[in-house]
Amino acid sequence: CGIVGYIGSKDAYPLLINGLKRLEYRGYDSAGIALHSESHELNVYKSKGKVSALEDSVADKDISGHIGIAHTRWATHGEPSNLNAHPHYSQTEHLALVHNGIIENYRELKDGLLQKGYTLRSDTDTEVLVQLIDYIQTTYKLRTFEATQVALKQVIGAYAIAILSKDEPDRIIAARKSSPMVIGVGDNEFYIASDASPIVEYTDKVIYPDDNEVIELVVGQDIRIENLNKEEIKHELQKITLD
Ligand code: GLU
Repeated sequence: CGIVGYIGSKDAYPLLINGLKRLEYRGYDSAGIALHSESHELNVYKSKGKVSALEDSVADKDISGHIGIAHTRWATHGEPSNLNAHPHYSQTEHLALVHNGIIENYRELKDGLLQKGYTLRSDTDTEVLVQLIDYIQTTYKLRTFEATQVALKQVIGAYAIAILSKDEPDRIIAARKSSPMVIGVGDNEFYIASDASPIVEYTDKVIYPDDNEVIELVVGQDIRIENLNKEEIKHELQKITLD
């Protein structure tokens, strides 16, 4: 399973698809992608099966955009299916999220969301994450970065996540705990991946976020990283190492 993200001036779609193919060796049962399109839509495409099946399914779709996140899934909760494939939308379709890992307390979180009137569409543990962030964001009027910090304080489990928000179409939010994530730093562009293999052909400068860190990537700005207690974190840029 794997995650890839891109924000910069290149076309995101081909780059993300290539990145997913680099991560295929990790194993997966479904693949999907979310893109901020040139017409200001937040488009999500996903399908059970190979990355090539995802490519076939978008043949007549809008795949424009310079910001996107992509995912290969190895199902842990909910069968492999188009519906359970990532990215998952929030209820209002303002957020799209990909996740590798397992949310241990998803039942408890799901019950809370159901009581608040949320409808969950998939059988995954992952969907509670995006709905919880949506709930916190709309209730407390927070931006996605801050809402993600608050939400993750309630989450028990392992995750590498990446999020796009329709209301903040200039950025990617990411976070990790006990699941791998590398951030690639290029010239006015950033990459996210589960390991360095999708990044190495574009840049050799990387950052390895630690557990419980939330990351915000905006073109032309320094990487913003905070832990869940809102403390700013600085990581040294490292030279890529492939293992
Ligand atoms: N637990 C999540 C799911 O089953 C993510 C699995 C993964 O790491 O790909 O959808």
